[in-house]
Amino acid sequence: MTKKIYPEALNLPVFEIIKQAAEELGVETFVIGGYVRDFLLKKQKAKDIDIVTLGSGIKLAEKVKKLLPGKTQSAYYKNFGTALLKNKDLEIEFVGARKESYHPDSRKPAVENGSMEDDQKRRDFTINALALSLNEDNWGQLIDPFNGLDDLKNKIIRTPLDPDITFSDDPLRMIRAIRFASQLGFIIHPDTFEAIKRNKKRIKILSKERIMDEFNKIMMHNKPSTGLKLLYETGILDEFFPELGKLQGVEENEGKTHKDNFYHTLEVVDNISKHTDNLWLRWAALLHDIGKPDTKKYHDKNGWSFHGHEFLGAKMVPKIFKRLKLPLNQHKDYVAKLVRLSSRPLSLIEEEVTDSAIRRLLFEAGDDIDDLMLLCEADITTKNKQKEKKYKDNLKKVRKKLIEVEERDKIRNFQPPVSGKEIMEYFNLKPSKPVGMIKEAIKEAILEGKIPNDKQEALDYMKKVGQEIIESNQ
Ligand code: ATP
Ligand code: MG
Repeated sequence: MTKKIYPEALNLPVFEIIKQAAEELGVETFVIGGYVRDFLLKKQKAKDIDIVTLGSGIKLAEKVKKLLPGKTQSAYYKNFGTALLKNKDLEIEFVGARKESYHPDSRKPAVENGSMEDDQKRRDFTINALALSLNEDNWGQLIDPFNGLDDLKNKIIRTPLDPDITFSDDPLRMIRAIRFASQLGFIIHPDTFEAIKRNKKRIKILSKERIMDEFNKIMMHNKPSTGLKLLYETGILDEFFPELGKLQGVEENEGKTHKDNFYHTLEVVDNISKHTDNLWLRWAALLHDIGKPDTKKYHDKNGWSFHGHEFLGAKMVPKIFKRLKLPLNQHKDYVAKLVRLSSRPLSLIEEEVTDSAIRRLLFEAGDDIDDLMLLCEADITTKNKQKEKKYKDNLKKVRKKLIEVEERDKIRNFQPPVSGKEIMEYFNLKPSKPVGMIKEAIKEAILEGKIPNDKQEALDYMKKVGQEIIESNQ
């Protein structure tokens, strides 16, 4: 085999420094993984660099740190035999070449020192096992025992070893296969694909955090449906996210069908991804119909309905977030709110769009109104051109009206114009139920448009209705 040499991949000064450090320690050293893969794909060079050495990764990192100019942050993980250096925008990870053997019940391998090939064998895919030499005598030479370069050219994701072994050792690799396939636009080799189907149950031993790390990378792709479909087709999705797969399917009754809510959801996620990089808005799109399977009913007259699915869906959000160990505190309310309101803007149009309906929508959505409108637009997936135009025109009307009402009534982030304290003082009340009821009555009057959102008008209204409310509670 002819030697392939890529010195141009190594023109960052840091590689010279690593080489010098490795020479001083007398250990062979290589750059491996994403950096090499992305160079060969002519993609922008990755900023994270993975280094393997036939010695101690920690010792090499310590020496490199001394030689690097500027400020370097370091972390040493003695238990894992790895080290991480951060210098400017570079992140360099060091590891000693190792051989891993796994026990079937555990994800934690027994680790011993190994050869370069041992280390490449424990990598997830042939394209991620490509390495370049950082040694004087073969600087830049490609070390490719599993024909990763061919797989790179042919756009194939394939494990270096028998895929049943690679996947059983660390089942996360199955989701990574799908993540890389979608990120790079590659095909998963049929043998590797079949092995994913066979080994899907092993997903159960993984922590949710590791799964979600990869899943969210799939969600952040410019077309997340590519990866989501693969997760579904391999059966992996059902192992950690059965609610999504349950959306799949079309039922028929007396010739009437409903749309396939799984494939519809994928389209909505793709649509919204063209307009936002906000992961949690993409999640709202993913979950917007999640309540449908459990609210589905067939009526003789009107066919299929999913009555109240938005409310059920919104209630499911915190449970799903908790189970998947997603950041519960920061994002569940935002996602649940968008799911709950997801059909509202379009349904407003069924009748005349009244100012009060718009005020209520603004009141409930608050600052998330623009995200909600994006979600509604993404939700239009009908292939009927006439219907599509009608829905889009309707949303335009709602948007116009939202701007008008917002300018006039300032309902977004509504603050009650009369406080509980003021109500108690005026009527000489102690904290009690009528105080809340009077406050609520003022809010309702503003949202209904009986009075404007104005302090004096609200006080006048309070004087008008307050006494009656108090008496009806005695
Ligand atoms: P990117 O960072 O662009 O997503 P990458 O290939 O650098 O891609 P990382 O997750 O940073 O991916 O991992 C670096 C390298 O470590 C990989 O290229 C691969 O060789 C190896 N690797 C990472 N995770 C695993 C795993 N679960 N099993 C086997 N090898 C892995
Ligand atoms: Mg990386």
